[in-house]
Amino acid sequence: MASPTYTTRALVLRKTKLGETDLVVTLLAQDGSQVRAVAKGARKPANVFSARLELYSVVDVLCSKGRSLDVVSEARLVASNERVRLDLEHAAAAAPMAELLDRMTHDGLENPRLFACTEAAFARMGGLPGAHAPLMCAAHLLKALALSGLRPSLDACVACGAPAGAGAPGQAAFVSCREGGVVCPRCRAQVEAVAVPASTLEWMRYLLGATFADVAAAGPALDAAFAVLRFCREWVREHVGCTLKSLDFLFSCGLYEDAGAQASPDPAGARSGAGSAPAGAGGDGEKAPAAP
Ligand SMILES: [Zn+2]
Repeated sequence: MASPTYTTRALVLRKTKLGETDLVVTLLAQDGSQVRAVAKGARKPANVFSARLELYSVVDVLCSKGRSLDVVSEARLVASNERVRLDLEHAAAAAPMAELLDRMTHDGLENPRLFACTEAAFARMGGLPGAHAPLMCAAHLLKALALSGLRPSLDACVACGAPAGAGAPGQAAFVSCREGGVVCPRCRAQVEAVAVPASTLEWMRYLLGATFADVAAAGPALDAAFAVLRFCREWVREHVGCTLKSLDFLFSCGLYEDAGAQASPDPAGARSGAGSAPAGAGGDGEKAPAAP
């Protein structure tokens, strides 16, 4: 009896070698579920799959259901996202996005907005200079977590529900990853929390609400991007239960150091360690938006 087949648009999250010439691809399907499928012969030179099932590519696939792994029988390239894959600065920032989805998504668990969000993020990132890639990564990680029910509470104290407020620039706010978000000064004695610059929380609120086009126009904001990514590392460890290895690489790779010296949206505040607050993000409104 022939195996049942299905077609889906999908994004390639991971590739693993299998045997001499085959490949196992982990895909984020358009419905947000995870598909793991064998592409037979994909590692042979000039195989039809080898150019179509590259990392971060968007493909239309025809698969047949298997007992443990499905089998890819056709693949048509929709968007190669070549620059995201080949440019070092882009690739280093794209890897945590794919790794988080690899860890968070599951066979049969639908979440269509996750696919749309990721497809948009990769497409937008590919058109930007490499220095913008970490902020796009930070925005995507926060949005993907939120779409998966893991949105941090940033507006009300997780212990008593009191409004968190915007916080003065340069001040620290307190966050408990375990309890799920910000902790007000009154509750800090009872809840274990770490200090996070108020501007980092402001950036997180902004990135959660902004479109990727808005994020692209906000400039590289590398200090802010890395401050948010450090938060994401702890948040993922607590709520997804894993350490994103590619995020650790992003912190240590040193790829963005030159760009950071000349590419902040606000030279006066952006080198202060955590990044200036984003323009127009509900903060004090003292900063003009960076030119796109
Ligand atoms: Zn409280």
